[in-house]
Amino acid sequence: MSNKNSNFSDKVKDRLDIVEVVSEYVNLNKTGKNYQGLCPFHQEKTPSFTVNPDNQFYYCFGCGKGGDIFNFIMEIENITFYESLKLLAKKANMEIPSQKGYSKEYNKKREKIFQVHQLAAKFFNYLLLNKQIGNEAFKYLSKRGYTEKDIERYYLGYAPDSWHSLYNFLSKRDYEDQTLKESGLIGHKNGNYYDKFRDRIMFPIFNSQGEVIAFGGRRLNDEDSNSPKYYNSPETLIFHKSKNLYGINWAKKGFRERNSAVIMEGYTDVITAHKYGLNNAVASLGTALTSEQAKILKRYVDTVYIAFDPDFAGEQATLKGLDIFKKEDLTVRVIELPEKADPDDYIKEKGLEAFEKLMQSSYNLIEFKIRMIINEKENYNINQRINRSKKVLKVLSEIDDPIEQDVYLNKTADILNIDKNAMKEALDSFNQKNKQENDDKNRIKEKDSKKELKKLNHQDLLLKTLIDNPDRIEKAKNEIRSNYFKGIYRKAFNLILEKGFNILKMNIEHEIEDQELADYFMILTVKERQEVSEEKFKALIELMKDEYKKRAKNDLYHKLQNVELKKSKLDNLLRDYHEIIKI
Ligand SMILES: [Zn+2]
Repeated sequence: MSNKNSNFSDKVKDRLDIVEVVSEYVNLNKTGKNYQGLCPFHQEKTPSFTVNPDNQFYYCFGCGKGGDIFNFIMEIENITFYESLKLLAKKANMEIPSQKGYSKEYNKKREKIFQVHQLAAKFFNYLLLNKQIGNEAFKYLSKRGYTEKDIERYYLGYAPDSWHSLYNFLSKRDYEDQTLKESGLIGHKNGNYYDKFRDRIMFPIFNSQGEVIAFGGRRLNDEDSNSPKYYNSPETLIFHKSKNLYGINWAKKGFRERNSAVIMEGYTDVITAHKYGLNNAVASLGTALTSEQAKILKRYVDTVYIAFDPDFAGEQATLKGLDIFKKEDLTVRVIELPEKADPDDYIKEKGLEAFEKLMQSSYNLIEFKIRMIINEKENYNINQRINRSKKVLKVLSEIDDPIEQDVYLNKTADILNIDKNAMKEALDSFNQKNKQENDDKNRIKEKDSKKELKKLNHQDLLLKTLIDNPDRIEKAKNEIRSNYFKGIYRKAFNLILEKGFNILKMNIEHEIEDQELADYFMILTVKERQEVSEEKFKALIELMKDEYKKRAKNDLYHKLQNVELKKSKLDNLLRDYHEIIKI
């Protein structure tokens, strides 16, 4: 951060309050002078994510993530420093200085790829709405109920059946071939550059800030079976499939209004949902749901509805995805659509209200999993009944509440015609085994948190005082020698002297390589500010001195006993001794 951005970023930081910014993502509660909440970066049930408003600093005692307002935004939005600066400057109503000369190569490249996507989206949209060449595509969309307004709102486009139209359009605007290649929109083969998307309806994929970061292209000509029906952008510097959700830019508002998200499979499902007023719909970009996507949603909502085609929802990969959501403490509900229906058709045909009714009668994760294993209408033979009841036991063991567990157990036993008591016994032994494993895990966790909660000793306190009150560093420099401290404390003290007045502006994560030191520094910075009076500060220094003297004398004493008393060596030791007693 030691580039020219630093002045501007300091100003942005001064204008914003970290508590306010973090609160947009995390529910914070005041505890003393600090704030605490559930960490957005790891799974936890008791809050260890701490924000210190005095030092404008956050730190999680659980996963060790910490830093200033920029670190927080970079981490949670998964963006670069420059992008976080842009975002926060906007929040602070400040005009960001032109990027020229400000950002590193990598950021410049990303910026260019963003621009290329913006231009390409505009180009495709223009062709679809205004040019003869886009007529077929326009007709196709009209037939499916898309109006001109929809096309504008969702920024749909058409990539013509040509190898060079996008390439020519972008090259004329002075983008280098290398940049175009890295954008993922242009291919390169045998020395030639070519458009990857041809004769396709283009669905721009936006990030949560509403910037185009990729495209999904649907083949227009259904007879052309040589090319896949859907073709999506590859991973690029700005697009990571597993970390995005299609429609998140439109759904953010709906997330907050409804405290829930509806996850669908396709672009058209999402667009139709929004068109009809289901404003919290998004689509996963690809098959498996990822923990990154779950974490993103967790920032906005408590409940996630899954509206996948029933066969697809029952697949192992999808079930695994649903567990990922549960692990993030999201309530998962599975919507059961009629066979062969997708949300797109269903909403168009039956309307939003009918779909909302499906949401109301959706299954919780346990019910859904059991339904995937046993079908009430089926007649199972003995072997099938035994096998299936074993599978259900595994699902039941995931339930924490014994009453709930009992309800599902009875139901299953009924359907499979199995003795309830036998099933209960089997479940108990299953539970017993799980409990042991969990206890072991918890014990390890407890040990860790005890270490963190230990009280500040006087070395901690002295260093903490310097970090909180950089104006005292000058005095400390004159009166404290670094060898008063030992180990990690000495490293920390040296760093404080080196940074001086800028100690709170330091980017700990980037500037401190020593991981142990970085962690220690973050903890000191985030701990509640301590009121240390001038007298107490002096007393602390005296205490450090005394302890050092004691240590040094002891040390000397041992050396005197051990050395053969050569004159020169003895002289040295005596000189050391005089040094010590002078302190
Ligand atoms: Zn954490």
